[in-house]
This record gives sequence, structure tokens and C-alpha cells, in this order.
Amino acid sequence: MSDSVGTARVRRVARGDDAYDTAVRDPLFNRLVPGGTPDAVAYPQSEADLVALVSAARDSGEKLALRSGGHSWVAASVREDGLLVDLQAFDQVVIDTTARTAAVGPAVRGGELGQALVAVDLAFPVGHCGRPGIGGFLLGGGLGLNWGQWLPSCFSIRSMRVVLASGEVVTASATQNPDLFWLARGSGPGFPGIVTEFELDLRPLPRDIRLSSWVFDLAQVEAVAEWVSRAVRALPASVEVSVVLQGPERPDGPATAGGDTDAPTHVVGVVAISYTDTEAEAREAFAALDEGPGTGIRSWEHTDRVRVAFDELHVGVDATYPDGHRYLADTFWSPRDLGDLLP
Ligand SMILES: Cc1cc2nc3c(=O)[nH]c(=O)nc-3n(C[C@H](O)[C@H](O)[C@H](O)COP(=O)(O)OP(=O)(O)OC[C@H]3O[C@@H](n4cnc5c(N)ncnc54)[C@H](O)[C@@H]3O)c2cc1C
Repeated sequence: MSDSVGTARVRRVARGDDAYDTAVRDPLFNRLVPGGTPDAVAYPQSEADLVALVSAARDSGEKLALRSGGHSWVAASVREDGLLVDLQAFDQVVIDTTARTAAVGPAVRGGELGQALVAVDLAFPVGHCGRPGIGGFLLGGGLGLNWGQWLPSCFSIRSMRVVLASGEVVTASATQNPDLFWLARGSGPGFPGIVTEFELDLRPLPRDIRLSSWVFDLAQVEAVAEWVSRAVRALPASVEVSVVLQGPERPDGPATAGGDTDAPTHVVGVVAISYTDTEAEAREAFAALDEGPGTGIRSWEHTDRVRVAFDELHVGVDATYPDGHRYLADTFWSPRDLGDLLP
């Protein structure tokens, strides 16, 4: 089959079509288009469709951009001119409970994967937010749930199927095309191919997941940072801690513990999650946090080691990213104490 016949069967929505604006904008996590837009959006249904699109683009010089879940902070999928290839049809999840692996399409959302795995007592380090596509999340390295024990998520990729710019479809793993496999550990939008499927190593589902949280007045941030820095040195890898600074416009509403009108408008929140198998293990795991930031420092909202389901952990995080907002995001690793890093 010639490339033109192959590409003709792939549905396209072109500039000028009624559905064009929606096709470009709606899959973006904040529904905001940063600048120039592509000539068309294409919806391949199979690897053969992708091979045809890539081969035709190679012949014509047309630029291709990719979209799996549309959760790039900068809308990396939306480029000026060229063709936006929307991989939404690649949403397969096939779980092998005996081998403890799953074959997962790049358009599957982290939350969907978590839910499918919980049903068979398995888990994977999906992102803290449930909505990013596995495609961009894994290629960017993937900082997921329980990363202290499960490491960045890209380390749980066993192999990938990749359509190359040559039109060839290859497998990348530790033993096949290892350079391509290595690039999957963080190259993100720079990855030189289209991943159509990831084979993932799965984990047993932790039996007892618990969450504690505290909300303090932002004025106490130094004492809170000292407490958290001290505690994390003693916490086991099964506990992950996040610290969030929030103002009065926080999407889940201002801190108004019990309707208390004295509640501070600017707060520092601390969330700790433990991934263990028994309640006793969870209690022991949290012990280093028990001393708190000091007497006289009031926590305006507090939950104490409440049990949570693995596939519900993302619910609160998702609520903090409403549509229609712009976000500035950055990530860095530091060996320094939290107090040194806060402004
Ligand atoms: C609200 C929000 C919360 C987030 N939370 C987390 C988190 O908890 N942990 C974390 O690690 N990250 C997190 N991220 C970052 C997120 O994982 C990355 O932005 C990731 O790129 C999103 O993947 P996507 O497939 O949805 O993105 P897309 O916008 O669809 O893709 C981004 C780019 O990745 C490349 N790409 C995507 N799929 C493929 C593919 N199949 N083959 C080849 N290249 C591809 C393309 O260049 C594409 O343009 C978050 C982002 C947002 C917006």
C-alpha cells in the first residue's frame, strides 16, 4: 500500500473544519493553547496508521507532533503548522497477573491504570495527579506514588514498542535497542520515536495505605520546615512527604477549619502517605513525624493516619489543577534541607 493510501484512511480534522478548535484545545489539561496551531489533527488507530503517517511526513517534509494525555505543562504537542498526531486510540491495558506485567498504551491515564490494577491486587507508581497520559509521564521519567520504594516510574518499564522516523517498528528494552530504552528515562518531548505500547513491571498492592495531613499558618513555615527536614531523615522509604504553600485562592477553598473565621489565609500544608501492609507497620513508619513542629504551633486542619485506597490518592491532587489556569512548573532534586530551599 502506498503512503498516500495509508494516510487517507486516518481521520483528520483540518484548520477551517468546525471541529478544529475543539480538536486542538480540548485534550490540553488546562484547555489553553499557548500560541501557533497545527494544520490538522490526525487520529491514527493502529501502528500501521502511524507508519503510514511517518512515512508520508518523511516524504513531504511535514512536521509531526505527538499527544498522548495532553498534560504537558507547556502544551508540547501543539506546534505551529505541521500535523498533531493524537494517540488517544492507543488506550489498551492488558494485565498479566502471573507475570506481574501490563501492556499499556500511551493514552491511558495514570488514574485509569491505578484503578485497573487495584482490581487485581496490583499497583504501579502512577503519578500523584491521575490525569496525565502514561506516554508523556513515563518518557519524562515519572515521579509517581511511593517513589521512595518504587523509584521513578521509568525504572519499571520492561520494554516499549516504538515507531521510528524511518517507519520501522522496533522493540526497545535492556537487551534490544538499549540506547532507545535509555532515552525513555527522561528525554520527554525529545524522545526520537512514537511509543505505541509500554510493557510495565507491576508491584503487589500495599495492603494498608495511610495518610496524615496538617495545615499551619504560613507565618510558622520555618518551624514546619525544620520539623519536616528532621523527620524525613528518620522516615523509612515507605513514607512520602509533600509540603505545599498555598494562598487564599487555593482551588480547594481557603483554610476555614470548622468555619473558624480566625483561620489563616496563607498556609503551609504537610501531607504524609505510608505504603505498608499492616496498620502496625504504618504506625511505626509515621513515628518520626509524631513530635510535630513544636508546642504552641497550631495545626488548623489535621487528619491522622486515615486509611486510603490506592486508586483514590490522586483525587485531592487533581482538584488543585482546575481548567482555564496557567501554571508555572519546575522540578529539581536537592540534597539540602527544606528550610534552606524555601524563600
Ligand atoms: C496537572 C499535572 C499534574 C502532573 N503531575 C505529575 C506527577 O505527579 N508526576 C510526574 O512525574 N509528572 C507529573 N506531571 C507532568 C506530566 O507527567 C508530563 O507533563 C507529561 O509529559 C504528561 O504526559 P501526557 O502524555 O499527558 O502529555 P502530552 O502533552 O500528551 O505529551 C507531551 C509530549 O510528550 C511526548 N510524548 C507523549 N506521548 C508520547 C509517545 N507515545 N511517544 C513519544 N513521545 C510522546 C511528545 O513530545 C508530547 O508532545 C503533571 C502534569 C500536569 C499538567
